[in-house]
Amino acid sequence: MSETILKTENLTKKYGSFTAVDSMSIQVTKGEIYGLVGKNGAGKTTLLKMVSGLSLPDAGEIALFEKNSPAGLNSARARTGCIIETPSFLPYLSAEKNLEYYRIQRGIRNPRCIRKSLEFVGLTDTGKKKFKSFSLGMKQRLGLALAIMSSPDLLILDEPINGLDPMGMAEFREMILRLNREHGATILISSHILSELSQIATTYGFINGGRLIETISAAGLKQKCKRSLKVKTGDTEKAVNVLKRELNCTHLHVSDSNAIYLDEYLEAPEKVVNTLVKNHIPVSEVRQSGLNLEEYFIELVGGMHHDENN
Ligand code: ATP
Repeated sequence: MSETILKTENLTKKYGSFTAVDSMSIQVTKGEIYGLVGKNGAGKTTLLKMVSGLSLPDAGEIALFEKNSPAGLNSARARTGCIIETPSFLPYLSAEKNLEYYRIQRGIRNPRCIRKSLEFVGLTDTGKKKFKSFSLGMKQRLGLALAIMSSPDLLILDEPINGLDPMGMAEFREMILRLNREHGATILISSHILSELSQIATTYGFINGGRLIETISAAGLKQKCKRSLKVKTGDTEKAVNVLKRELNCTHLHVSDSNAIYLDEYLEAPEKVVNTLVKNHIPVSEVRQSGLNLEEYFIELVGGMHHDENN
C-alpha cells in the first residue's frame, strides 16, 4: 500500500466566531499531485498554513509522514518545502544572495543546493540583478527555488501559478511535473481555477466554505465530465438496437430515466436522428451533455444536481 504523506482529521480553524476551515479531513498519498480547488475564501490558504506549521489549528489532527506528535511533526516539516503567499525576499539582494540568506537561516549545510535550485527554475543568469527589479514570473521562480532548496519530499504550493502569463503558467506546470516525476516529490497544490490544475493533478479535493465537499481522482473526474450525445426517444430498447445495428454504435449506455448516452456521433447528431426517424422511432430530445471542469466545479459548489449521466 502507498505511503500516506499527509493526513488531516477534522482539522478546524476559527477566526473569532468565523470558521475558516471546518472539520477537514484530507489524505495525500506518496507520488500524488493533489489539487486543492476552491473559490476565493474557501479556506485553502488556511488549511495549507496549518499543515506547514504557519498557523495553529483550533481542533483536529495533522499527521505528516505518519508523525503526529509535536516533535514528530517538527521533524516531518523539515521534509517539506512550501510557497504560501508571497515569500518575503530581501529586495536589494540578488537571487543567489537571497537563497544564501535562507540557506543559513534554515541550517541547510550544502551550499551547492543554491546553484541546483536556481538551475532547476532557470534563474542562473540573473547575476547581480536585485530581487526588487525581478518580473512576477522571476519572483515566482525564486519562490519555487527556495521551496525546493532542501530537496523536499512534500511540496506545498498555494496558488503558485496565480498572476503568471500563459507561457509562465505552462513553464511552472512543467517544473511541478518534473519535481513530481523525476525527483519523486509529492505535491499539494491549491488553485481557484480548476483548469490550471487539470493538466497536472492526479487527485482533486474540492473545498467550499471551509469544508471538503468531494475528493476525486483525475480519471474519475474525466469520466464524470465526459461529453456525450443524449438521445431521448419513444422506444429506448428499439432505438438502442437500431443505433447498434445501423450506426455501429458500441459506446452507449441507458440512464435510469431512459435517456441514451452515446460517446459517438457527437459531431453528427443529424445522422442519429435520421436513422431513428427512418426506423419510425420518435425522437423527443437530442443534445450534447457533459460538463467541462469549470462547469463541474460550479455545479458542485453551487450544490446543484447535475445530469443523470454523470
Ligand atoms: P483565496 O483564494 O482568496 O486566497 P482561500 O481559499 O485561500 O482563498 P483563506 O485565505 O484560507 O481562503 O480564507 C478563508 C476565510 O478565512 C476567508 O473568509 C478569509 O477572509 C478568512 N481569514 C483568513 N485569514 C484570516 C485572519 N487572519 N483573520 C480573519 N479571517 C481570516
